[in-house]
Amino acid sequence: MPPPPPLEPSPPRSPQKRGRHALVIGGGMAGLLAARILARFFDRVTIVERDLVEASTRTRAGLPQAAHAHVLLQAGHELLQRWFPDMAQELSRRGAVSVDFGCEFVYAMGAGSLTGVASESRAHGVSRPLLDQAVRSLLTRESRIQFRNEAQVVSPLWHRGRIAGARLRLSRGTVTELDADLVIDASGMGCLSNSWLAPAGFAEPELETVRTCAVAVTREFSLPESATPDWKVALIPPSPPDVPRAAIASMIERRRWQVTLFEYGGSSASGKPSEFVSFAESLARPELLRFLREARPLGSPRIQLCPVSIRRRFEHLARYPGGLLPVGDALCAPNPVHAQGLTLAALEARALEETLEGSELTGRNLSEAYFRRCADVIDAAWRFGNLCDLGFSRVEAERPKDARALVGSLRALRERAVADADVARRLLDAVQLCAPLGADRDA
Ligand SMILES: Cc1cc2nc3c(=O)[nH]c(=O)nc-3n(C[C@H](O)[C@H](O)[C@H](O)COP(=O)(O)OP(=O)(O)OC[C@H]3O[C@@H](n4cnc5c(N)ncnc54)[C@H](O)[C@@H]3O)c2cc1C
Repeated sequence: MPPPPPLEPSPPRSPQKRGRHALVIGGGMAGLLAARILARFFDRVTIVERDLVEASTRTRAGLPQAAHAHVLLQAGHELLQRWFPDMAQELSRRGAVSVDFGCEFVYAMGAGSLTGVASESRAHGVSRPLLDQAVRSLLTRESRIQFRNEAQVVSPLWHRGRIAGARLRLSRGTVTELDADLVIDASGMGCLSNSWLAPAGFAEPELETVRTCAVAVTREFSLPESATPDWKVALIPPSPPDVPRAAIASMIERRRWQVTLFEYGGSSASGKPSEFVSFAESLARPELLRFLREARPLGSPRIQLCPVSIRRRFEHLARYPGGLLPVGDALCAPNPVHAQGLTLAALEARALEETLEGSELTGRNLSEAYFRRCADVIDAAWRFGNLCDLGFSRVEAERPKDARALVGSLRALRERAVADADVARRLLDAVQLCAPLGADRDA
């Protein structure tokens, strides 16, 4: 690997200083991006991660999903580029594959396949461990950010009804305390800080769930040059009400291909090559089937249960402690079939940035403004996912009265998109979380 480029200066300080120290629980993507934002507003930022985070791109215990295909959607990619101007260079240096979001991204629905037109906007085909590693490496150049690995946050420090830091258990078993003016909970779907609320007299946020009982099976492949498809990233969404199967496929570093197959309601697929092919036969589109017939499997299959998508409605709470904000899967963990989680984490980090910039905002007003902004970006992603997921009768969720009509409108929208370039662009914008569907015009 060529040597890293010269150090970039830390991100410019905001005139709106928010305190001396911010603590981030969790060194996943949401924690890393939040830290990048906090470094503009605090003198020091500490990212506390319970795993040993190695320089290698091996999957670690706290991030089992990293073994599966991870596509960063366009809205997320644009924010990462803004916050890390050296990102493209860093990813290429590590072997990631350049992808044109316009013409090398395919959204392959039963009604037909959509691609955009060739564009200037280059994204990257990359495995999740390598993406995290690149972001972490760019953050280590920032002097205000420190990493504390193999340290588990176990409980909060309270001061006058506010969160004032956290207690950590270190790998040797010793416990230490870190004071902080702001604690960001990026601990993932379990949302560690949720359990801190009730003992301190606060209500927990109501939970919205969509129980898909999905299973993800992933394999990596090599493909002869002659068989390379004309796309590098493919999303094959499920087709309600008949096809509860989906796939994400991406070319990643070292010219490998990563394919994740999803099935709602459990799966019989063990990941054997022959099963992969028969699974692909049952998808709504043939793109993957052609590919798999030529592909040679590498390594062993990885299987993960993804039983439920969850959204915590913090914005509905009347009381919430100061000094604490959740981000990423801790706020909303969408159905991975739609590839939205990383991009939502980036959009929420942008919501954090905009909120911290609001000079008039402190204490309760600050958390209210943050939760409101997050609710807006989550709404668009959550509704788009539900449009598809609630169309399967086996999916358990509270359904709107017009759920059946929504399935019909999704099908009609997909059919129109295949025939009409303007509708196609609006649908792809919604898929990429760049702009929500217009309720009146689209679905
Ligand atoms: C099969 C599958 C495929 C997916 N594909 C995609 C995709 O294509 N595109 C996409 O955008 N998203 C995808 N996702 C979703 C994506 O993985 C998540 O949305 C994303 O990882 C959320 O990031 P996060 O930082 O919020 O949480 P996580 O990535 O879960 O990170 C949480 C971190 O907190 C640490 N931690 C937890 N508790 C503590 C503690 N007490 N103290 C210290 N550290 C702690 C953990 O070790 C971990 O490192 C997929 C998910 C799955 C399951």
